[in-house]
Amino acid sequence: MKLFPNKLSQIHLVLLIAGFLTLTGNFTFFEKTLLVYPLSENLFFLGSLFIFHLTLLATLLLIFCFSKTIKPILILLLIISSLVSFSSNNYGIVFDHNMITNTFETDASELSDLISFKSILYFLIFGLLPSIAVWKVSIKKITFKAQLLERLKAFLILVVISTVVILSFSKHYSSFFRENKSLRTYSNPIYYLYSTTKFVSSKLAVSSEPFKEIGLDAKINKNSNLRRLVILVVGETARSDHMSLNGYDLKTNPYLEQEEVISFKKMTSCGTDTAFSVPCMFSLLDRSSYNHAKGKNMSNALDIISNAGAKVLWLDNNSSSKSVADRITFKDYRSSELNSICNPECRDEGMLTNLQSFIDDQNNQDLLIVLHTMGSHGPAYYKRYPEKFEVFIPVCKTNLLNECSREEISNAYDNTILYTDYFLSKVIDLLKNNSQDSDTAMFYLSDHGESLGEFGIYLHGYPYFMAPDEQKKIPAFMWFDESISRVFDIDSIKEKAELSQSHDNLFHTLLGLMDVETELYKKDLDLTAK
Ligand SMILES: [Zn+2]
Repeated sequence: MKLFPNKLSQIHLVLLIAGFLTLTGNFTFFEKTLLVYPLSENLFFLGSLFIFHLTLLATLLLIFCFSKTIKPILILLLIISSLVSFSSNNYGIVFDHNMITNTFETDASELSDLISFKSILYFLIFGLLPSIAVWKVSIKKITFKAQLLERLKAFLILVVISTVVILSFSKHYSSFFRENKSLRTYSNPIYYLYSTTKFVSSKLAVSSEPFKEIGLDAKINKNSNLRRLVILVVGETARSDHMSLNGYDLKTNPYLEQEEVISFKKMTSCGTDTAFSVPCMFSLLDRSSYNHAKGKNMSNALDIISNAGAKVLWLDNNSSSKSVADRITFKDYRSSELNSICNPECRDEGMLTNLQSFIDDQNNQDLLIVLHTMGSHGPAYYKRYPEKFEVFIPVCKTNLLNECSREEISNAYDNTILYTDYFLSKVIDLLKNNSQDSDTAMFYLSDHGESLGEFGIYLHGYPYFMAPDEQKKIPAFMWFDESISRVFDIDSIKEKAELSQSHDNLFHTLLGLMDVETELYKKDLDLTAK
């Protein structure tokens, strides 16, 4: 039996693929929709939604698919949609424009974490096989005029069908579009196509705007004669509620609990993914006004501190600095070239190996060192820690999280937190070794949180407006050595640690920690200010 007839018109091929994508790529979309509109009371509406999705997608495709473009476009869509639908079905991922940014900024090792037998099989059945069928099918050749007429007729029919469908269930559709905005984010491929358009336009906006230097008046005005040495640790995917320092049942912070650490218990992130959160947290702009076009095109906290006269260094064991360290010294620790602890994954601890000699080489210059960690990056949590940190068992040892129990996922994740706890204690040890001739402090905060299966959601990157707390509530810890504790008012910092704080505070807190004065500085946002 042949999958396709010998020859198809362009219109029929588009309709066929729009139907195939609507049917095979939208399991999560219909699953989430069924939770709001149960089948027993909404059978006809749900049927109409299927038709509406198909007609909308077909209309879109007809705008871009012509004799030369039809096959490449349909094949690209089939391939990408199969990967998108696998990620949505298995991890509940939503492909908004931040997730698209994240996808483009993901490196090969992060992608390899997502590959499994199941994902390859899924890709073969729903991506590759139909793509081969599209490639093989012959398309009827007709004159340009006939093509134009046929297309016009198809457009008209599709518009009439969509209009009839919407008018017949107008109440349902108005609640679907107005009150249940999150549902449409699962529509595949329509939502990721929309997000990609947004991503491209924001990229164009970034490149068209000139870079804006701000904080040119910044200067260091220290209240102490000692050199300032601050280490900022940017965490990855750590959740506030999985820290025993914040009351978590399991002892995930055995090392930090032995130190005088101040925990900011009500801290929230700027975004729900690395690509958005990292540049946002270093930006003068707050969460409500931040976008890449504005934020990446102006000096960030590190630029200003560097211009004020401190040495600023960024060591990266994550994906990149997301443009934050473009104008300061950057060192990549993701390979054994620089990182001395790779087994085979390069560990965060490796960033500390040669750090002392770097500190010694800077004479007496004030230093701000950023350590961008791999932390708890999922879904392969079990790969994120050396064997001896596998304390919480049994552990989920696959990247297909929905095949593990909640306990196994949580255990694997908690072991990553335990390793982070150990790593932070090593950072503190390094600072203690320098406290004779420096005022030292550590500030650790995660870039965003993580869903570990709550509400059937895994990983992170949900659009902020619909993201669960697990993806937004992050841990943040400060540690000060004895000499710097006389410069800052520790009691007032402890008071602020009990209040709601966010990534919006980081810009001003870093200026405060480095004693940098500028008219941009806002004391009320500095977590270390009295
Ligand atoms: Zn991240």
